[in-house]
Amino acid sequence: MLVIGLTGGIGSGKSTVSDLFAEKGVPVIDTDLIARQLTAPGGEALAAIRNAFTDVVLHADGTLDRAQLRGMVFNDASARGQLEAILHPRIRLEVERLLARVQSPYVVIVIPLLVENGGYGDLLSRVLVVDCPETLQMERVMARSRLTREEVAAVMAAQTSRALRLSAADDVLVNTGTQDVLQAEAERLHQRYLKLGMALMP
Ligand code: ADP
Repeated sequence: MLVIGLTGGIGSGKSTVSDLFAEKGVPVIDTDLIARQLTAPGGEALAAIRNAFTDVVLHADGTLDRAQLRGMVFNDASARGQLEAILHPRIRLEVERLLARVQSPYVVIVIPLLVENGGYGDLLSRVLVVDCPETLQMERVMARSRLTREEVAAVMAAQTSRALRLSAADDVLVNTGTQDVLQAEAERLHQRYLKLGMALMP
């Protein structure tokens, strides 16, 4: 099966693009969603996180205060390493479990920090980068969230550079136009991936 790793910087349009593939009936595995499920009440990683981060706060409904946890690891490489050591292997296992159940010419795995963290190279047939200039990323993130310009800039600074991300790409979806343009581009890629995926089928 053809396995596409979909990545891109914050606000580049990853979710928008993965929704477009999903609407076409393509199976989409979302590592962010898996991370949220693993850290939900009763989730497999929540106990491990509470053991490692004893100051971590739960909301009244038992859900993790993800913003607080993000704040705890943002400027602390060792804490971040600890959190990643809890999450990454579990996310990877769940991705493998879901992949094994999928029957389709191709499948999309959304991995926001693919270039930063690596670890999926062996599973992926191709890397698809959703790309737009940083100024546009900034505008889109600020329009959709309450983050300030400085906060968005800090997230972007912690992510890999646009150039490095693009250098890892087999395919690039340029998301500088309207949503209609993006949709047409996604359809073009979809046809290509279907063809490549069908050729791999027994
Ligand atoms: P990501 O998942 O990479 O963070 P999103 O897909 O959530 O990015 O896109 C960021 C924001 O920009 C969302 O509010 C989305 O609706 C909007 N957006 C994405 N692509 C376009 C586009 N081509 N035109 C206008 N708005 C867009």
